[in-house]
Amino acid sequence: MLKLTSEVQYLNRIGTKRASAFAKLGVRTIEDALTFFPVDYHDRTKIVSIRDIGGQLQGCIFGRVGKSYEKKFMQGLYILDIEIFDDTSMVYIRFFRKKTAYSNIDIFISIKKDFEIGTFAYAYGKMESGSRFMIVNDYEIVKKEKDEPSLFNKIIPIYPATEALNQKFIRKTIKTLLEFCYEEYPDVSKLIPSFKNIPRLDYLAAIKTIHWPNTLEDAENARRSFALQEFFVLETALSLSRNNVKKCIKTQKYVVRKTLLSAFKNNLKFEFTRDQKNAINDIFTDMQKIYPMNRMLMGDVGSGKTVVALSAILLAVENGYQTMIIVPTEILAEQHYFTISNMLLGLCVEIGLVTSSTFKKEKERKRILAGLEDGNIKIAIGTHSLIEDRIKFKNLSLIVLDEQHRFGVMQKFEALNKAQSPDVLMMTATPIPRALAMTVYGEMDKTIIAQLPPGRIQVQTYCSSEQVAYTNAIEELKKGNQAYVVYPIIEESDKLALKSAKEESDKLSQTWFKDFKVGLLHGKMNSLKKNEVMQKFKNKEFDVLITTTVIEVGIDVPDATVMIIQHAERFGLSVLHQLRGRIGRSFKQSYAHLVVRGPNAEIYNKRLSIMVSTNSGFEIAQEDLKMRGPGELIGVIQHGFPKFKAGDLIKDSDIIEFTKMIAAKVVDDDPNLSKNENAVLKKLIYKHFSNKMKLVSVG
Ligand code: ADP
Ligand code: MG
Repeated sequence: MLKLTSEVQYLNRIGTKRASAFAKLGVRTIEDALTFFPVDYHDRTKIVSIRDIGGQLQGCIFGRVGKSYEKKFMQGLYILDIEIFDDTSMVYIRFFRKKTAYSNIDIFISIKKDFEIGTFAYAYGKMESGSRFMIVNDYEIVKKEKDEPSLFNKIIPIYPATEALNQKFIRKTIKTLLEFCYEEYPDVSKLIPSFKNIPRLDYLAAIKTIHWPNTLEDAENARRSFALQEFFVLETALSLSRNNVKKCIKTQKYVVRKTLLSAFKNNLKFEFTRDQKNAINDIFTDMQKIYPMNRMLMGDVGSGKTVVALSAILLAVENGYQTMIIVPTEILAEQHYFTISNMLLGLCVEIGLVTSSTFKKEKERKRILAGLEDGNIKIAIGTHSLIEDRIKFKNLSLIVLDEQHRFGVMQKFEALNKAQSPDVLMMTATPIPRALAMTVYGEMDKTIIAQLPPGRIQVQTYCSSEQVAYTNAIEELKKGNQAYVVYPIIEESDKLALKSAKEESDKLSQTWFKDFKVGLLHGKMNSLKKNEVMQKFKNKEFDVLITTTVIEVGIDVPDATVMIIQHAERFGLSVLHQLRGRIGRSFKQSYAHLVVRGPNAEIYNKRLSIMVSTNSGFEIAQEDLKMRGPGELIGVIQHGFPKFKAGDLIKDSDIIEFTKMIAAKVVDDDPNLSKNENAVLKKLIYKHFSNKMKLVSVG
């Protein structure tokens, strides 16, 4: 009996080399191999008669093997044609092989050996249009007409093969594995009531069907059945962690006194939007509960999340508590420090900026550390420096994480450890579809800011040539506005032949922008320098800022009305959307130019057309998901979460919703999963989440 945890490298025929190729695909153990599911299927259940195959582009045929003919096709390339007969007609199946000069090797030897006259062949391929030749993709020979083939008359799994591991080998390895007998496969299907038409398969039955289904429908049903268990385990883990947060009663208490809140509102030059008011309302209600707040504030770029967070912060501060805002970059920390200081002018609230650069200056470092520890600094704004051990607060009660998707689960966890039972507000502009949000932020309460502040004019986006883009930029600069030019990288790389920001800034300041002041900002500068450049741009000492994705998040320069993104094809759509969010931050019309460089511009422009047609981050994220799968998006927002084997965050949104409900019931009924019937579930949660999600501590 085979153990699920055994490593594949000890299996027959898999040496260390193939084992490491498997490992690259994420397959180390037998269990990994069993759940290494096909990415696609090939339906070979239909055999087309040879008379009819001519009319079809591709298909499977079956027939008796006849004579073969070899000839030269062109220099170095040879053809082998083999006759295949069935009752209706004859077709030649055709193979191409290369032959080097002077080589005496019979290049078709293995094929000719397979296709013995009088045997029978199954072949899958594509007809050369209007001819009697089929270019063969895959074939199988059987000795007798009635012999059952292994790769035809069936649905064939297609695996993500690599150079080191071909399709055939993966298929064979997994097929062999499926025939073994295993120790009991942990199975929680009994805990899940039936749902829709999903068959009630145990894990192993589902696995077998997913690899070798009889019909495509069976495959999909089995996949959903596996996903049902997969999501159930995840949702139970999330539900447990949510319960844990809820269980602890906090010590901080807030009363809305409005001593600071009113003064702050008077300082603002605008009214809150309806959505901002609702968000503030949700947050204040949370903060006044006896359990810690655990809320996610989602709003597209520019929707005004900062002032919402600031309202929460001031509620805490007017009740005597300390607060902190953690952001992913120093530039953003610096920027928040300035805008927030401005908004709080005259309120006498001490604010501290905590980044590695502040900490480089000894006097400043001592002042800040002391201020945090004695409680004088009420608002600490900073980067991950804020979660260092030496940072101690006197009475921290509220933690805000801005652009939270940039933080790993562990960083978040460490941040939360800075206080006993802090109220937590996370903010993100990465718009994600509902089902995904339910899973990723499942344990959190959610508020969405759907509207932008009034008077905003939508950014106009174009796929432009450089000529058009720079001409437009100059028009805007002449009006006294500012422009960003964004490059994917900063150093020149011959290999990719990308234009680099550094090199280009010199060129641009001598050509297109010779009458303007040009600044350069990139990720390799030290933070002092970065802040200096950013501040100068904000103060209009530069008209043009040449930069990289360092400005992707949070930066707010209202007079910047043009953004030219070079090599737009190199960026993901969601990143482009974030970048574009840096303009259009005032009542002025702004313009984004996506410049595609190099070959295949048409194809790229097609992909980018969604950017032109919509300003909704949500629609763009949906499109991104459709085109590239959830991989990258999830990668960004899902630090530390498991990859799903069969579950699909888009197709299975109904399952996610259902299992969330079932999981909540299970946890309500048995908060420590100590009942016998939940033992397997508990084991699975430990196995999958105990190290990844420290948030979960069971029993
Ligand atoms: P984000 O949600 O992307 O973090 P910000 O909080 O940076 O957005 O806000 C974007 C800009 O909109 C800022 O300049 C901010 O001052 C402004 N703003 C926020 N709320 C409003 C409002 N209700 N009316 C007008 N402008 C607003
Ligand atoms: Mg922001």
